Amino acid sequence: MSSTDERSPILVSGAGIGGLAAAIGLAQKGFAVRLLEREKAPGELGAGLQLGPNALKALTALGIRGRLEGAAVELQALCIHDGRSGAELARWQLTPPMRARFGAPYWALHRRDLHGALLARARELDAIEIETGWHTVAFETGSREVAIYTREGTERRGAALVVAEGLWSATRAQIVGEGGLRPQFAGKTASRTLIPCERVAAPFRAPCAHIWLGPNAHVVHYPVCGGRLVNLVVILDDSWRRESWGGVLERSVVVAALRHMAAPLRALVSAADSWLRWPLYTLAPLPRWYSGRAVLLGDAAHPTLPFLAQGAALALEDAVVLADVLSQARTQVREGDGASRVVSNSAGLDFAAAFARYERLRKERTERVQRRSARNGAVYHMAGVPLRLRNAVLRAAPARLFMARYDWIYRYDPTAAARSPSAGPAT
Ligand SMILES: Cc1cc2nc3c(=O)[nH]c(=O)nc-3n(C[C@H](O)[C@H](O)[C@H](O)COP(=O)(O)OP(=O)(O)OC[C@H]3O[C@@H](n4cnc5c(N)ncnc54)[C@H](O)[C@@H]3O)c2cc1C
Repeated sequence: MSSTDERSPILVSGAGIGGLAAAIGLAQKGFAVRLLEREKAPGELGAGLQLGPNALKALTALGIRGRLEGAAVELQALCIHDGRSGAELARWQLTPPMRARFGAPYWALHRRDLHGALLARARELDAIEIETGWHTVAFETGSREVAIYTREGTERRGAALVVAEGLWSATRAQIVGEGGLRPQFAGKTASRTLIPCERVAAPFRAPCAHIWLGPNAHVVHYPVCGGRLVNLVVILDDSWRRESWGGVLERSVVVAALRHMAAPLRALVSAADSWLRWPLYTLAPLPRWYSGRAVLLGDAAHPTLPFLAQGAALALEDAVVLADVLSQARTQVREGDGASRVVSNSAGLDFAAAFARYERLRKERTERVQRRSARNGAVYHMAGVPLRLRNAVLRAAPARLFMARYDWIYRYDPTAAARSPSAGPAT
């Protein structure tokens, strides 16, 4: 491949939450970015997201927190119910403790609001060029640039490549090799719907998240869109699978699966018109996240089961840390005599060294979240004696003890990660 010039953009493949956040983070640090998305109209299917203080710090750094204030719901508490009896097992206060302990709120919002805000911000930034209808199938990384290709052989070149293609990333195998790389079905599905709040019983319209724990199933719901809609997710032990997002599901199937659950929950589930079902997959921790000038980000690097509500948060954190790491590497590009100078482009930047540092900063944390999330899934779906023991512990243990177990997740500040003394050299 020929040498790149100073304005050569960083290519980002995939304009989901992670890809958009990465493009914005890099553009804010002065890098030119070309963002390439498979879909003709980048968008998001309807469903909700919870975002904790760690994610909120990333949103602030990316300049979009303010845009979401009206759409987001600040959750006041998390209520945990026994799914069959409906009894409240525990109530963990989120507001004000989240703000007090971690300096940011705990939000619930519609994925479309988050994606829309990121997309709007990306479109405002001159440094970002967005190309849609582009399906990356392969890349080639050279000593001075990277090239990506579609199936038809069309090519785009850039200084580096960020692969943000989600769970089913087409190019991940080129980075980590083929062995053991197919996502594994987790034996669970997530069925999601949104219900207008006027159809929902008053207690469930309040700004709280609810989890109902039943044998082999659990249900999560919370309000989104400024409280106008309630997002409802039913997770079942299930054998239905396919290698893509979303399949329409009959309401009767969800209702039948939850027939042993408490009456208020069954009434809530029956109020929904349409359901989409997602099979859930896991992927073993990857041996590496980068190869030459190409690097993984978000679900492409560390798909995470949703039982800690952290997958999108980790993608946002990745984006902020990656932008910081590349920015620091750029400002430390050294001339032959060893003197430090600031350059305003990516020429001379050692991408492989910078990606190695980004991987060091991020891999341990993301793998820990993956493990804890999978463990939560097992605990949520307990049956028989383990279920009774779990419920007894939830009833008896003080809320602050449980909350303290999650400190390491919410305390994380992605804007400080690349600056901390333990973060290693900048390149
Ligand atoms: C039921 C459920 C509930 C969840 N709840 C939460 C929650 O409460 N909080 C939270 O933080 N996370 C949650 N998550 C996780 C979160 O949705 C994901 O972690 C997040 O969407 C990952 O973002 P991403 O950008 O890495 O990948 P994706 O969102 O999958 O985006 C990938 C993008 O790349 C594009 N693309 C794919 N392949 C190519 C290609 N070859 N070329 C070009 N473009 C390509 C796609 O079209 C898409 O736009 C949940 C997940 C599920 C399933």
